[in-house]
Amino acid sequence: ARRELKGLRAIVTGASAGIGRAMAIEMARAGVRCLLFARRQERLDEVREATRQAGTEASVVVGDVTNAADRAACLEFAQRELGGLDLLVNNAGISAGGDFAGESPDVLRKIFEVNFFAATELTREAIPLLRTGRTPMVVNVGSILGHRGIPFTSAYCASKFAITGWSQSLRAELSTMGIDVLLVSPGTTESELADHLVEQRVKLPWAGMKGVTAEYVARATIKAIARGSHEIVPNWRGWWMLVA
Ligand code: NDP
Repeated sequence: ARRELKGLRAIVTGASAGIGRAMAIEMARAGVRCLLFARRQERLDEVREATRQAGTEASVVVGDVTNAADRAACLEFAQRELGGLDLLVNNAGISAGGDFAGESPDVLRKIFEVNFFAATELTREAIPLLRTGRTPMVVNVGSILGHRGIPFTSAYCASKFAITGWSQSLRAELSTMGIDVLLVSPGTTESELADHLVEQRVKLPWAGMKGVTAEYVARATIKAIARGSHEIVPNWRGWWMLVA
C-alpha cells in the first residue's frame, strides 16, 4: 500500500549533517513534520531553516542518541508538540579507520553505542507512540557494509551487520502491530562521516571514491517510504557487486 507522506510526523536522528540533513529537507518538501535530533544546535538550526524553505518547518531537539534522558526528551517532544509519531528514522552514525589487530576495544564499543545500541533503544522506547501513529514505519540507515565486510573498518562493518539482522527480526515482529520496517543500505555517499572518525590509523578504504550525494540517498529513501519497501540499496554505480 502506498503511504501518503503529507502530514506525517517524524523523528530523524543525526539530522544536522549528511544523509539525515538531506532526509529532513526532502521530507519537509513532502509535507512531513520532522523533529531534528542531533548534538550540534547551530547545525540543526540551519537545517530547520532549510526545512522551512522546503515547505514544512521542522523542530529542533538537541541531544545525544546514546543518552537515555535525551532520547526520552525527544519522544516527549514528539508527543507534546506533534501529538504523536509516524516515522522514526534511525540515521545517526559514526565510523573509524584502522586495522582490527591494532585497535583499542573502545573503538568497537563506541561505534556500537551510536550505530547500534542507540538505534535499538530509541526504537524500543518509540514503539508505544508508533503503534498509535498513522501508517507507522521505522527506517534504519544501515550500509552496504552491513552486507559485506571490508578491511580496515571492521567495527563499522560489524555495527552495520547488526543493524541488518536486527532490522529483519524487527520487521517480522512489528508487522503484527502494523509497523513497517525499512532498511536503507547506502554505498559511498558524500557526507561528513570521514570528518568525525572515532579513530583513524589508516586511510578509509573508500576515501577518494566518488559517491552519490546525500540528497540522492534521501530521495531514494523517501520513495521507498512512500512505496512501503522493505530494503533498498540507493546506489547508482560501483558497489552494487558487494550485495549478495
Ligand atoms: P555525517 O557525519 O555527515 O552525519 C552523521 C550525523 O549523525 C550527524 O548529524 C551527527 O550529528 C549525528 N550523530 C553522530 N553521533 C551522534 C550522537 N551520539 N547523537 C546524536 N547524533 C549523532 O555522516 P552520514 O550522513 O554519512 O551518516 C548518516 C548515516 O549514514 C550513518 O548511519 C552512516 O553510517 C550511514 N552511511 C553513510 C555512508 C557514507 O558513505 N557516507 C554509506 C552508508 C551508510 P551531531 O554531530 O550534530 O550529533
